[in-house]
Amino acid sequence: MNISVVTIFPEMIEVITKYGVLAQAIKEGIIKINIFNLRDFTKDKHKTVDDYPFGGGPGMVMKPEPFFNFFEFYKENYGTPYVILTTPQGDTLNNDLVKELSKKDNIVIICGRYEGIDERVMNFVDKEISIGDYVLTGGELPAMVIIDSISRFVPGVIDKESLENESFNTGLLDHPHYTRPRDYNGNKVPEVLFSGNHKKIEIWRRKMALKKTLEKRPDLFLKKELDLIDKKALIELFRELDTNA
Ligand code: SAM
Repeated sequence: MNISVVTIFPEMIEVITKYGVLAQAIKEGIIKINIFNLRDFTKDKHKTVDDYPFGGGPGMVMKPEPFFNFFEFYKENYGTPYVILTTPQGDTLNNDLVKELSKKDNIVIICGRYEGIDERVMNFVDKEISIGDYVLTGGELPAMVIIDSISRFVPGVIDKESLENESFNTGLLDHPHYTRPRDYNGNKVPEVLFSGNHKKIEIWRRKMALKKTLEKRPDLFLKKELDLIDKKALIELFRELDTNA
């Protein structure tokens, strides 16, 4: 997968290419990240990327020309991309959208700054994405969030089994995790995890996932289609409630 970012702060994006799972995926050639400095697509000696807004008002607006020059260059060299604009006005990023984006093989992410970008740049944009209902100073952090989240679904980046059980993928939040020591100052790991009974462990984990989801995100639970394991786990939860009553 090729992901390109166009930004006036390329060093910000470089940071995520150096750490953890993403750095490994880049090393293995599963993901390629190209970072373009928008100023390289300006034609004046000051490499100007912004200008005053027509109609007046505060702040500056990103000029259209550098973006038009960038896309002309990009298409000639890398083909036609799927273009994402980071903007607080876009669709809010969620697991379904992340999965959908992970199937594209040539993505360009535009990072805005100042008051935003000249509206004519919208001619190139396929999808406007927001990472939440608040305003950041620039699109670099949203671009990093988009890259990080979609990379995890690119085959070969993370093992399939880890992905399957994660929050949102099953329609539920993840179950609790434990590691050594078994007893930390009297805080004990649940016995069932040492039972060696995989079926029992699976039902316990699902029960905990259902419990967390019901407590923290009942909206997710309402949308969840229950399978047999969910039903067995819910029966156990109900029985526990009954004995605690
Ligand atoms: N004037 C714009 C508005 O009110 O909608 C906000 C511009 S913001 C200060 C500058 C840039 O940061 C935006 O062009 C966008 O690229 C990015 N940005 C800010 N908040 C964002 C969010 N919640 N999601 C995605 N991108 C965001």
